[in-house]
Amino acid sequence: MACAFCGKPVNPHDSTVYQRVSGWEHRRKGGGTNAIALRKVEQKWAHANCIRRASRGLSGQESLV
Ligand SMILES: [Zn+2]
Repeated sequence: MACAFCGKPVNPHDSTVYQRVSGWEHRRKGGGTNAIALRKVEQKWAHANCIRRASRGLSGQESLV
């Protein structure tokens, strides 16, 4: 499996790995955390580091590593 961000190999059985899910969130006034309905697990994985980097708004591309 390749990481969705950096393209390097990812082990889906590693406990630190993130797996992509999609679903539907109920929008409520005032926001807050809601449960996701019809949650669907996708066959996409990513490294925890790549998720952290992406969530900071940076590019998922790595230059020289
Ligand atoms: Zn990665």
